Amino acid sequence: MTELIREIDPLRARLALARERGLRVGVVPTMGALHRGHLALIAEARRRAQVVVVTVFVNPTQFGPNEDFKKYPRTLEKDVEACRAMGAELVFAPENESVLYPPGDETRLRVPETTKHLEGAFRPTHFEGVATIVLKLFNVVGPGVAVFGRKDYQQLQVVTRMARDLFVPMEIVGIPTVREDDGLALSSRNAYLSPEDRQKARGIPEGLSAAVAAWEAGERHVQPLIAAARLPIAAGATSIDYVACADAVSMAPLDELARIERKAVLAIAARYGTTRLIDNVVLGEDPAPIG
Ligand code: AMP
Repeated sequence: MTELIREIDPLRARLALARERGLRVGVVPTMGALHRGHLALIAEARRRAQVVVVTVFVNPTQFGPNEDFKKYPRTLEKDVEACRAMGAELVFAPENESVLYPPGDETRLRVPETTKHLEGAFRPTHFEGVATIVLKLFNVVGPGVAVFGRKDYQQLQVVTRMARDLFVPMEIVGIPTVREDDGLALSSRNAYLSPEDRQKARGIPEGLSAAVAAWEAGERHVQPLIAAARLPIAAGATSIDYVACADAVSMAPLDELARIERKAVLAIAARYGTTRLIDNVVLGEDPAPIG
């Protein structure tokens, strides 16, 4: 049975009971509009914990002023149903922002180095909002484990860094990106794409797959790997924010002329119409998104 909880106190009371009984709590933070990617996170949380809390909260502080906070899809009833089907015990979905940002709230968390480049460079306040809400949720839930998707690779590194730096006593797990049959990463934002742009967005998995193929053929220089990824993306995208390689832990960018010596991620952000999509592969680790 899945229980929908909308306030902090009843959630804490429920979880305190679980912990007293020695049960490990797992949390899956989401903004709702759940798809198969989210469901894979819940499945992983269930493997690692006896009580799973899915949080559903469209977090205002991680949206920039011109971003899609207002139009972000909100589908709570369906989300609770999906959590039920996945066997999650609890859904924590605050009714409004003031549950997690009560009047007078002002504290914000910064993870300056990990957020300097890639998404952080294009969305300057985004990760401050992410780090802040994630620590709030960790403090409310008190989980033994939290599960995130590698689809938002930099976010996973930000949360991992934050939890280490602040000695948050829990495990953080990242799971591989769940994709459509044609390789496009599942995202709540895919719903915004027109049918034409949805077709064009196949350029993203094509580009990432071309980079993986080049890597597997022995290419270790940044520039040709980026060039391989960029070509199919540029063919269909309205605009590209970045196609770049970064250190897979620190997220420091790798110079285009460099040779890759340590684990690296190739990450992209591109717009199709007004819809901004991100994706990535960890070179030498992730399979090609296509085939
Ligand atoms: P969101 O609801 O978009 O904020 O995402 C909530 C969590 O789901 C984050 O940890 C995301 O990385 C993860 N996630 C989103 N899309 C996918 C996907 N296609 N595969 C795996 N995880 C995902």
